[in-house]
Amino acid sequence: MAAMLQPQIILLKEGTDTSQGKAQLVSNINACMAVADVVRTTLGPRGMDKLIHDDKGNTTISNDGATIMKLLDIVHPAAKILVDIAKSQDSEVGDGTTTVVLLAGEFLKEAKPYIEDGVHPQNLIRSYRTACNLAIEKVKELAVSIEGKSMEEKRSLLAKCAATTLSSKLIGGEKDFFASMVVDAVLSIGDDDRLNMIGIKKVAGGTMRDSFLVNGVAFKKTFSYAGFEQQPKKFIHPKILLLNIELELKSEKENAEIRLSDPSQYQSIVDAEWNIIYEKLDKCVKSGAKVVLSRLAIGDLATQYFADRDIFCAGRVTEEDLQRVTAATGGTVQTTVNNVIDEVLGTCEHFEEKQVGNERFNIFSGCPSGKTATIVLRGGAEQFIEEAERSLHDAIMIVRRAVKNSTVVAGGGAIDMEISRYLRQHSRTIKGKSQLFINSYAKALEIIPRQLCDNAGFDATDVLNKLRQKHALPSGEGAPYGVDINTGGIANSFANFVWEPSVVKINAINAATEACCLILSVDETVKNPKSESAQGAAAAGAMGGRGGFASRGRGRGMRRR
Ligand code: ADP
Ligand code: MG
Repeated sequence: MAAMLQPQIILLKEGTDTSQGKAQLVSNINACMAVADVVRTTLGPRGMDKLIHDDKGNTTISNDGATIMKLLDIVHPAAKILVDIAKSQDSEVGDGTTTVVLLAGEFLKEAKPYIEDGVHPQNLIRSYRTACNLAIEKVKELAVSIEGKSMEEKRSLLAKCAATTLSSKLIGGEKDFFASMVVDAVLSIGDDDRLNMIGIKKVAGGTMRDSFLVNGVAFKKTFSYAGFEQQPKKFIHPKILLLNIELELKSEKENAEIRLSDPSQYQSIVDAEWNIIYEKLDKCVKSGAKVVLSRLAIGDLATQYFADRDIFCAGRVTEEDLQRVTAATGGTVQTTVNNVIDEVLGTCEHFEEKQVGNERFNIFSGCPSGKTATIVLRGGAEQFIEEAERSLHDAIMIVRRAVKNSTVVAGGGAIDMEISRYLRQHSRTIKGKSQLFINSYAKALEIIPRQLCDNAGFDATDVLNKLRQKHALPSGEGAPYGVDINTGGIANSFANFVWEPSVVKINAINAATEACCLILSVDETVKNPKSESAQGAAAAGAMGGRGGFASRGRGRGMRRR
């Protein structure tokens, strides 16, 4: 009876599943380590690629950490944080996405034994944050500025950064060819920030080497009506009219109801429609434009009309391409053909319609404002070109970053080894437990050179010992030494031009530490089985620790907190 009087305190809905404390932390760490294990093998120039096959039957081959993480569809709530940091690294700096996931995984791995031994996570977090700040200070100190060099020098320095990024990709074999293309593209758009001013067009067929850069705009012709063959395909200094209207004969009479008392009036209604379109076309011709582009359709009547007057036209140009044409040629998009004045017409030095592979391309080059560039990518399989595009995107981002923020550090694990050495040295000056934690953080940083070796099939322990010895030289001359990917020994990465913009490293270290601390600060995940009963089994399985993936099909609809 007494027991009945003592009411139970119910905080959460009945049946809510909670797991708490150390077990929860360890399980979260395990899940994150499993995620890091997936991307581990893709790091570096000898890294492998992943083929991801989704339930719709699409296959993607990629080496890019962010792309792989996105496609994996991870459902484990803690491991999802790693997906987020990979994505943020991708949008912030564009490269270093595998690095960031790997670092976060390794920081957690180093933290795990401490957690298991009962160290309070807050102690670890505090030390990790200190170590992170020290590491970033050190990167800034070691960074070498490329500011103040001549344009020619700068161009070749930037190309080296781009080549380092590309060396780990499928198109790594042609990295110098693409690196200089990327640098030209980025430098030609000048200060304009908008990434979409660099267009990448993919045309299957041919070889990689057939890819080319257009200093201006190029786009695929979407649709051709009869009569287009008679249009001229080449112009020097043409005036360009950009439109956002349809130039098509509309059979409005079929949509409207018209009552006529006199059958002879019927003809006038049909004529009216023709007059409207002819009037529009006439105005386009009178504007003096030699090239007419429109967002919307340009029908066969208009095509023929323009062909008769030696004018080139293309309809259904995509919004993005039209924007690029606007920026490049200095024209403005018109929504009416009334009063087309000269100021709204664009121009360029050279216009041509050309066959590229199986496609017809409209190419505008030598544009006056020169704020756009287009890379036309060629190559065999579709998946290959897709991956090439992603790789170029990384390289473009890196060059843009390096232009703005012109400091670089030595890659190939050199910078990571140097920070690691510095932190170890620093830790010896600290009294108390923090010394151990900072030491572990330093050890975790060694994962980058270690993994580069593992992926290339070198003896990682041997190479790392050599590197440690080199970096420990009191003169500091060993600082730029990293893994030599060609011989399996060590080499001066800086002298070999394996360069990375320092923002890549700073951002990666910051994001990985943040993610690690976030995961360490979670000691409980609360799940309500009722709201998830359909996928309960799958989610619970994923919660169990390593191997925490489940397909989207089961994960979808899960309520997330
Ligand atoms: P992420 O997605 O993190 O950019 P990558 O697969 O591109 O991963 O690998 C980047 C790593 O490879 C960097 O640490 C970089 O320093 C290293 N790297 C790139 N090129 C070379 C090279 N030629 N020799 C040694 N290391 C290299
Ligand atoms: Mg990379």
